[in-house]
Amino acid sequence: MKLRYGMARPHITKADKRAVERVLDSGILSIGPNVEKFEKAFARQIGTRYAVAVSSGTAGLHCALIAAGITEGDEIITTPFSFVASANAILYVGAKPVFVDVDPVTYNMDPALIEKKITKKTRAILVVHIFGQPCDMAPIQRIAKKYGLTIIEDACESLLSTYRGKKAGTFGESSVFAFYANKQMTTGEGGMVCTNDARVARLCKSLRNQGRGENMQWLDHNRLGYNYRMDEMSAALGLSQMSVLASNIRERRRVARLYEKYLKSHERIIQVPRVAGGNTHTYFVYVVQLLKPGVRRDDIIEKLKRRGIASKPYLPSIHLFSFYKKRFGFKRGDFPISEGISDRALALPLYRGLTERDVKRIVATLTSVI
Ligand SMILES: *Cc1c(COP(=O)(O)O)cnc(C)c1O
Repeated sequence: MKLRYGMARPHITKADKRAVERVLDSGILSIGPNVEKFEKAFARQIGTRYAVAVSSGTAGLHCALIAAGITEGDEIITTPFSFVASANAILYVGAKPVFVDVDPVTYNMDPALIEKKITKKTRAILVVHIFGQPCDMAPIQRIAKKYGLTIIEDACESLLSTYRGKKAGTFGESSVFAFYANKQMTTGEGGMVCTNDARVARLCKSLRNQGRGENMQWLDHNRLGYNYRMDEMSAALGLSQMSVLASNIRERRRVARLYEKYLKSHERIIQVPRVAGGNTHTYFVYVVQLLKPGVRRDDIIEKLKRRGIASKPYLPSIHLFSFYKKRFGFKRGDFPISEGISDRALALPLYRGLTERDVKRIVATLTSVI
């Protein structure tokens, strides 16, 4: 069913279309000049020395974990309140995700809960900057330093957000971004690993290309690698999308302000996103919490849908997915803050082009069905 208001909508310009068409006309559809150009521009944007383009954010997380030397039996501290990819990537390298519960304001990993989860097997902290807002990095960096742990950032949802003036993606040994169609900018499918470490960058380039040797000579495969390459159409689209990135984020913030304005008078039953002091938010999604007792979030989703408005439960806690429960024995109650947010959270339509009238109508419908 086509809804009047969908969840997300990519903003594709005429210049984007021309850029992709030029690649198609050139006949060089992979391993060409656009990937390198996109990487250079992206590294400059984030402020890291290197950026390595890959086929998805998930592939980027996999490469970042291998590059950090994570292997069978290692334990990685991470958050249960995330898109499943951040925990899955830990399983790809045979390591164990060790979840810590989240902060009720930012929904990000609560630094105060990390230390008691550290064991002799702990090797890294995989932070996830959720929904567009960075984690509280200062205490996390202190803990990582104290115990000799590597920090890897899943910055897939938080492109260009900042923590105390510093961009998400500049705190870890490596950081990963993603360009799926609903992110702040898109390449269709795609991801990027950012790092200041030349070794990590070289290794990620090799890993994405079947483990080929660093001199890129044919058939010199000196490690197990993957096909995680980004194609030229995606890279050209990404490069072109970078010129609308700032305005995409401005638009997301404008819509977020409008939601705030119209939800203000309902703050007792609808909790709007809160931004911690020192953070800026780039609104990958706009997620409210339904606070009214007795209101079932999933009923609200159904009622909104019948009125032409898309909404989604955002996000289910990873430890309660059946696969994770079966594999690790997790159960309800293990991470109560994360679970509570998962039960009440509702993502509302958010994309460039939503007008004040649209937001007003969405809020009026939401409050009427509640
Ligand atoms: C989007 C996203 C990813 C990567 O997703 P891909 O679909 O593989 O690009 C990873 N982690 C989080 C938190 C995400 O939101």
